[in-house]
Amino acid sequence: MNINMILNGESVSGLGETFSVLNPANEQIIAEIPSTTVEQVNQTIAAAEEAFKTWKNVDDDTINSAFSKIANDIRLAKDEIAQLITLEQGKPLGLAQFEVEGGANWIEYIASLEVPVETIQDPGGKIIKVYNRPLGVVASITPWNWPFLIAIWHLFPALKTKNTVVNKPSEYTPLSTIKLVEIINRHLPKGVCSIVLGKGAVGQTLSEHTDVAKVTFTGSTRTGQSILSHSVNTLKSVVLELGGNDVGIVLDDVDVEEVAPKIFGSAFLNMGQTCAALKRLYVHENVYDALTQKLTEIADSQAVGNGTDVTTTFGPVQNKMQYNKVKAMIDDAVQNGGKIITQAKQLPEKGYFIAPTLVTNLKEGISLVDDEQFGPALPIIKFRDIQDVIKKANNTSFGLGGSVWSKDIEKAQEIANQLETGTVWINSHSDLSPAAEFGGWKLSGLGYSFGLSGLLLYTHKQAVHITQ
Ligand code: NDP
Repeated sequence: MNINMILNGESVSGLGETFSVLNPANEQIIAEIPSTTVEQVNQTIAAAEEAFKTWKNVDDDTINSAFSKIANDIRLAKDEIAQLITLEQGKPLGLAQFEVEGGANWIEYIASLEVPVETIQDPGGKIIKVYNRPLGVVASITPWNWPFLIAIWHLFPALKTKNTVVNKPSEYTPLSTIKLVEIINRHLPKGVCSIVLGKGAVGQTLSEHTDVAKVTFTGSTRTGQSILSHSVNTLKSVVLELGGNDVGIVLDDVDVEEVAPKIFGSAFLNMGQTCAALKRLYVHENVYDALTQKLTEIADSQAVGNGTDVTTTFGPVQNKMQYNKVKAMIDDAVQNGGKIITQAKQLPEKGYFIAPTLVTNLKEGISLVDDEQFGPALPIIKFRDIQDVIKKANNTSFGLGGSVWSKDIEKAQEIANQLETGTVWINSHSDLSPAAEFGGWKLSGLGYSFGLSGLLLYTHKQAVHITQ
């Protein structure tokens, strides 16, 4: 496999400084990649602009047939791609395979959507047709937690709506995205989908470029705000999918045995490095002891290790910065009275391993409760009064997701209606659907993804007024 950028359909070596990609399970270098230079970013955008002149007129059947071939090629390369994801990202191989398969399914769902044309009968007699037209060149900046799947979430809605795209993957996890863009380039014309690589000026040059019509970004609120502030001069459209501090509220009528594995799975999905993972858990006092005990058993039974080992169920944190951040939050929680109720495990010496950690005896005002940990540590807080919990759930600058766990769906729905988040789950958390809009309120995002409305955010409206 070439570890090059892809410019105008060609695999091209970057001409900038080299950066290293590390395996987070052992800190060994797995690739040395030359960065794309600013000049090369500009060339890539120019090629995407040129390709847009033709791609904007492509017919829907051609797009859908290409998407189907891409999904098939992804499935054929599933093992190879999953290996790359585990190597660069750390997650266990089974989860990486889920990421690849889920990505192929997602592409097929996007292919099945139809971009509508609305016909309006104006009261004055004329007919108005409202089209959803492509924007031009879209810049996509993708993170290191689900590098393959999130690239699919960015690229395919943009391509489906006849835009051209330039992706910049996280410098921590570029390998599986390069493979994805290689596969895409087998089936789409040159210049329609490109990838640039590196750090420093690459992302910023891409997002600030005057010929980029839209930026789609998944990552931290800070970087999202910076991208938004730079969009002002050209009035670029921006979609931001940022962090969260998702609450889970467990009522006292749950079947503990049934919900505990689901709660554990959604809090520690991808070692907790998921924007819409459950990040603070409020449990009713009547089921608190039983649930914490069950969650502890599940956490302690995890096999923490290198994701390529088939016995591993829990991999490392993806990078050192994140490892240090999560460790510091756990230490701070303990210093502030928090009690770790999970066992300390013998962990590999090398690699960014943190065993799944449950912390009790905490309250609001402590970083592990108030801030996004984005890693394998979950605060569990006992409650008695539901109105008080709803208030606490909403008392945050984030608004990505939340969940309510109860057998009483009507009661759960009533609570769900009061949560100030873009998504609320009842009896699950973090399982996303390509058919439903997903976006953050408050500092968790701007705009949304998925569903028909998410797709149409890659278009602008054109109203054609027809007078006979
Ligand atoms: P960031 O979210 O800060 O994003 C880094 C990426 O953004 C890099 O690819 C970088 O490219 C690019 N970038 C930085 N500045 C700009 C800019 N002005 N314009 C365009 N692109 C830019 O990621 P970090 O890895 O630093 O993670 C920080 C925190 O973000 C984590 O601790 C975690 O809490 C959260 N996070 C959230 C995710 C989510 O899914 N919501 C995913 C990953 C992290 P370049 O190197 O070229 O500057």
